[in-house]
Amino acid sequence: MALVPLLFEKSTPGKRAVTFPAPDVPTVELSEAIPADLIRQTPAALPELSEVEVVRHFTQLSRLNHGVDVDFYPLGSCTMKYNPKVNEEAARIPGFALTHPLQPEETVQGNLQLLHTLEGWLCEVTGMDRMTFQPAAGAHGELTGILLIRAYHESRGDTERNEVIVPDSAHGTNPATAAMAGYRVVPVKSRPDGSIDVDALRQIVGPKTAALMMTNPSTLGLFDPHVREITEIVHQAGGLCYYDGANLNAIMGYARPGDMGFDVVHLNLHKTFSTPHGGGGPGSGPVGVKSHLVPFLPVPVVEKQGDRYALDWDRPQSIGKIHGFWGNFGVIVRAYAYVLAHGPALKEVSEHAVLNANYVLARLKPYYEPYVDRYCMHECVLSARTLKQETGVRTLDVAKRLLDEGVHPPTIYFPLIVEEALMIEPTETEDKATLDRFIEAMIRIHDEARSNPEYVKSAPHKTPVGRLDEALAARRPNLRYRANPS
Ligand SMILES: *Cc1c(COP(=O)(O)O)cnc(C)c1O
Repeated sequence: MALVPLLFEKSTPGKRAVTFPAPDVPTVELSEAIPADLIRQTPAALPELSEVEVVRHFTQLSRLNHGVDVDFYPLGSCTMKYNPKVNEEAARIPGFALTHPLQPEETVQGNLQLLHTLEGWLCEVTGMDRMTFQPAAGAHGELTGILLIRAYHESRGDTERNEVIVPDSAHGTNPATAAMAGYRVVPVKSRPDGSIDVDALRQIVGPKTAALMMTNPSTLGLFDPHVREITEIVHQAGGLCYYDGANLNAIMGYARPGDMGFDVVHLNLHKTFSTPHGGGGPGSGPVGVKSHLVPFLPVPVVEKQGDRYALDWDRPQSIGKIHGFWGNFGVIVRAYAYVLAHGPALKEVSEHAVLNANYVLARLKPYYEPYVDRYCMHECVLSARTLKQETGVRTLDVAKRLLDEGVHPPTIYFPLIVEEALMIEPTETEDKATLDRFIEAMIRIHDEARSNPEYVKSAPHKTPVGRLDEALAARRPNLRYRANPS
């Protein structure tokens, strides 16, 4: 396993994966079929291998990767739950998978019905009036939502609002979205208990406030009990309230952003509602709005007319299109299958997600101190601050050592306001035995940090590659085969 880079080049000149029988139909000379200047002079530098070598190569590569189908993946905020395979089957039904986005409406009534039905269900779950499925991810949903808010203010001649308020615990996409949409980002502090500092908020809202962006439960895994007061303060100042719904996994069936006073919400279908994710997509970040924002939704909107479904493009106040066609349709089909399969038991998803996170919190808090010592929602935020002071072993080292245990580490060093943060989201799809195995590994690493800190600091020891330059690996991934790498 450790020699992967060396074993990557397997080509042997002359080897072939398949040989075709000689054709028994008339053939055309290459020079007759293709203009001379387009015919290559030298053969392409492709690797030459037998079929079994190709299969083994890719199978071995796939085994170097970690996924939720391999083992535990408690990456906080990302909701890496197990995705039922039946949803994959649903997305592959030819009537869904093979329709062309330019087919006439009459021939895609089933697809439109699915969009319209799921819209109704998710509006019910979130307390919103209408929803668009165009955005391709949570961050894309945020941008769509903020553009909707801008269109709303502008339609009222309210053009002086140039600020968006974002709590200091927010996911990085929130301030990035506000800045991309041209707003000034105004941070609001969290109190020591993790909730938004309501008095600080009162000081900064005003005639320049376009919106507040908020995640509840927050990225600290804590539900903000003052949320109604918060949205009220923003509304009184003439601003709108945006709900980042990436953490909806914690509250389904119990609380609705619409009832908390939010005007706009995005969901991450690829987190809460099935679709395997990681590695960049595809995702889906539908945006739900209250009635006063409906005129601005991206076109087209799916409408039911009698017993037919139609795409409505005639919406003069629309912000326009923000994605090709109807969004990432396969992801929407998976979400439909997921909600249909759960029905009212969607509530249990959140119950078990919260129970699992609290179990992990309760068992690990003697070793890694919690950010706040209170019940958490679907994820818990711990810190290795004391461990670092006493042993020099940092959160990064704990995370790397976890790789040797065969589990994906939690999110680390986020939220930014927590020193040496470990953000653990077990999700509802893990059983007690898996949680216990993870917890015991975390405790073992804690003990090892005292007995043999150097070993933890030099982890991982069992993975094919050790400590990578992660920024370089993400920014300049080397994904292309080159026959003769320079
Ligand atoms: C994941 C996440 C986002 C961004 O969603 P993407 O689908 O990754 O673009 C935004 N906010 C929070 C709290 C998240 O966890």
